[in-house]
Amino acid sequence: MIDVLNIRKDFPILNTTVYGNPLIYLDNAATAQKPECVIQTVDELYRTCNANIHRGVHFMSEQCTEKYEQSREKVRRFINAEKKSEIIFTSGTTGSINMVACSFGERFVSAGDEIIISEMEHHSNIVPWQLLCERKNAVLKIISFDDNGILRIDLLDSLINEHTKIIAVTHASNVLGTINPVREIIAKAHLYNIPVLVDGAQAVPHGNVDVRDLDCDFYTFSGHKIYAPTGIGILYGKEKLLEQMPPYQGGGDMISTVTFDKTTYAQLPLKFEAGTLNFIDAIALGAAIDYVNNTGRQNIFEYEQKLLDYATQKLASIEGLKIYGEANKKVALVSFLLKNIHHLDTGMILDKKGIAVRTGTLCAEPLLTHFTQTGLVRASFAFYNTFDEIDALCENLEKISLMFK
Ligand code: PLP
Repeated sequence: MIDVLNIRKDFPILNTTVYGNPLIYLDNAATAQKPECVIQTVDELYRTCNANIHRGVHFMSEQCTEKYEQSREKVRRFINAEKKSEIIFTSGTTGSINMVACSFGERFVSAGDEIIISEMEHHSNIVPWQLLCERKNAVLKIISFDDNGILRIDLLDSLINEHTKIIAVTHASNVLGTINPVREIIAKAHLYNIPVLVDGAQAVPHGNVDVRDLDCDFYTFSGHKIYAPTGIGILYGKEKLLEQMPPYQGGGDMISTVTFDKTTYAQLPLKFEAGTLNFIDAIALGAAIDYVNNTGRQNIFEYEQKLLDYATQKLASIEGLKIYGEANKKVALVSFLLKNIHHLDTGMILDKKGIAVRTGTLCAEPLLTHFTQTGLVRASFAFYNTFDEIDALCENLEKISLMFK
């Protein structure tokens, strides 16, 4: 059970006022707020335990290294990966996908090969593959979705062929909210020995993710969307694939020995962790994971689903409001347009009431093109949001609707 009033006390920023109104933060899909324990972890580390990891023999360096590696173990358990060596710290989902597109692409993709992504991807799971296709003269193919926002996986068979080298698909859409049947997609891809990358940026914050159950080959997510600091993220990769992939970047920590003739590389996962990593925030990611585990991922899922149902019903009852994304299984977000009112107008007026929503292309222009739209309004929820906040959103939308009569 979520005791939302108590939970809200853990997030100091929720006491903020905006233009004299209490903040109603409904932009959690863009970035989530941080609980006190995460803020304190960062603060304490800089005050008491800040030394570069994996390098020093001195006390503090060893302490920091230990905490960093403990955090890696927490991430491993969080997504049920088999080995710690399969967990790579990155800068975020975008960093993780770029790493795979470059390194996997370098090793496995050649001219004429094909990569499949979906029509509902965030730009971060489109552009790295486009760049790879440009470099390698490969071809990008697209799985479309229907007007309810459901992926046409019935089309997958017609897209896969002997040239397909990888499929990259989002676990949950940041615009439609759709939770995709990634397990099914992976099972199908594996029949053809095609690896699958899952973009988990919007799925990990909202429920349980088990990479072994999914049997995905790569899984990516961002710390800042699961209550950890910005600038830290995760790439999970199956060891047998990561072993075959060349390093993404060169520099400290990813080497074994360096001479001017030849450099040999460190074992996994360090092979993919060049330079001074963001170790402070990696440790704070561990604190965020502890917080989420203590709150209970099933509790979070159930509470957020109630928020989603309530918001969907209330929003749908507003005259002239159209919701984009009507799949049965959704994460807790709703994208919409109110009559023919420009999304920026809606967003800016809500802002003046202290209500933070996202507006614009939502980093998914091809998805919006499907609906011949150039922008939407998105309200996205976390387990510290309340039903009253949804009421306030809807009341203000009713008022905006009258203003533009
Ligand atoms: N993928 C999806 C589905 C997202 O929603 C986002 C961010 O909103 C990203 C990727 C990119 O995440 P980041 O900016 O943290 O790298």
